[in-house]
Amino acid sequence: MLHAELSLGRSELGNLHAAQVTRAFPVILRDLARMTVAGSAFSLLRELLPERAPDQGLFAAALGLLEELDAALAEPLLLLLAFQAHVLGLSGFAPRLSVCGACGKHPAAGQSADFDPARGYLVCQHCGGGAYRLRASTRELLAQAFEGEWRQVAHAAWDAAQLAEAQAALGAFIEHRIDRPAGKQAHTANPRTSRPSGKP
Ligand SMILES: [Zn+2]
Repeated sequence: MLHAELSLGRSELGNLHAAQVTRAFPVILRDLARMTVAGSAFSLLRELLPERAPDQGLFAAALGLLEELDAALAEPLLLLLAFQAHVLGLSGFAPRLSVCGACGKHPAAGQSADFDPARGYLVCQHCGGGAYRLRASTRELLAQAFEGEWRQVAHAAWDAAQLAEAQAALGAFIEHRIDRPAGKQAHTANPRTSRPSGKP
């Protein structure tokens, strides 16, 4: 973490007058997997944050992620997933995972439900379903992260299948909603184009 003094003009470039490292994260710098996760997380932040618009909540989340990665107590990919969900929630971009976005019907208790990343909500079978299936337990963990308890979610006991389905669904959602410019979104979701969240 840097304390920097700079002056900003009208152009994209500013003048750096002084910079001092105020906090280092040595464990991250020794581990490629942790560095990759930090890079993926920060590239999402760059997409979410408008230019020169400081956001205390997102800054605190970013600092929290670096602390968690450096502490090395949670799996890096779980930290990334939970962090992505949290900052989407903070920015008002969280997908809706509680009811079918087309008809408003709740999935039966404990049942899996389909998610359509292009629309950003669940779609029940009656309304055509979605390309990504999410179990109820996975939806609950993601919802907790959207609502701010992302650190607890990253330390929760996920099984491999939960992690895989959550990564696929959230990765596809981010690709549709954040990575693609508005107006150029695909008409249908295609799981083969989804990107695992842990890859840059
Ligand atoms: Zn429906």
